[in-house]
Amino acid sequence: MADLIDGRAIARTLDEETKAEVDAMVAAGQPRPGLAVILVGDDPASDVYVSHKVKASARLGVRSFEHRLPAATSQDELLALIHRLNADGEVHGILCQVPLPGHIDARLVLEAIRPEKDVDGFHPVNAGRLMTGTGGIPPCTPLGVMKLLASVVPDPAGLDALVIGRSNIVGKPVAIMLLAVGCTVTIAHSRTRDLPAVARRSDVIVAASGIPRLVRGDWVKPGAVLIDVGISRIAGEDGKERLVGDIAFDEVQHAKAVTPVPGGVGPMTIACLIRNTLVSAARREGFALRSEL
Ligand code: NAP
Repeated sequence: MADLIDGRAIARTLDEETKAEVDAMVAAGQPRPGLAVILVGDDPASDVYVSHKVKASARLGVRSFEHRLPAATSQDELLALIHRLNADGEVHGILCQVPLPGHIDARLVLEAIRPEKDVDGFHPVNAGRLMTGTGGIPPCTPLGVMKLLASVVPDPAGLDALVIGRSNIVGKPVAIMLLAVGCTVTIAHSRTRDLPAVARRSDVIVAASGIPRLVRGDWVKPGAVLIDVGISRIAGEDGKERLVGDIAFDEVQHAKAVTPVPGGVGPMTIACLIRNTLVSAARREGFALRSEL
């Protein structure tokens, strides 16, 4: 039986560390870390994500500033809000929930956020810092992936790692992070030839394609570590909708360890977001955290 990598428990531990650091920072007379969350329009999924982020902030002692704007908000109005938040000393992190309505250029908006407040880690400056190993703020889901991997393989140097997916928000940054810890990394995508063969020689597989059950049991070598980022909704046998990942979970019990979906990478993303907000606040205020990551 493969070990289950319990993302909920690991996220809870990270949250406890974050809360203790927030409390220590405030007790030392520093300002409470603050996160501004912007939602434009009424997309129900985005609404749920934003509510989770605001609730997590409150739970961990981080102030949140919610900005719920109508779908008709103009690009200039949104940019003006971001400029105000950039200048606001109480705001250490700014998150603008995507997708944005079609009349708004998401790239322009995300690039307007000051890199030091870009707690999603999407700004090109932070992407460049990740690429060059020069600090910055890492993107939340890839950071969560690395923490899950570290929970089973503390030192992955020398391992063959396969990342399936090459998006800017998951695949590419995960690949850079795996490289940084010494893995030999292959990045696969929809044009990759013979993906099963590439998978079979991998010690670590991070699957982020969004294709339900893409990675089958016979793609996985015994003892491999599997991190499943994918989230897809499919109809179950009972006709009810259920969430599945990119990995055929029931077929990979010969792996060393595997993340479930749900309950694997998902809970880590928000925990890493609040962590990034704390780190951003500590850097701005010149407060030394016990550990940055
Ligand atoms: P994306 O932008 O759609 O990228 C998907 C990537 O998978 C692309 O690079 C694509 O290749 C590749 N791909 C598609 N079909 C493939 C195939 N048959 N074989 C190999 N590669 C294939 O998606 P994303 O934003 O990176 O997200 C990926 C998944 O992670 C989604 O299910 C998403 O919901 C989930 N996700 C979860 C979290 C979380 O918190 N748990 C956070 C973010 C995303 P091409 O580039 O060639 O098209």
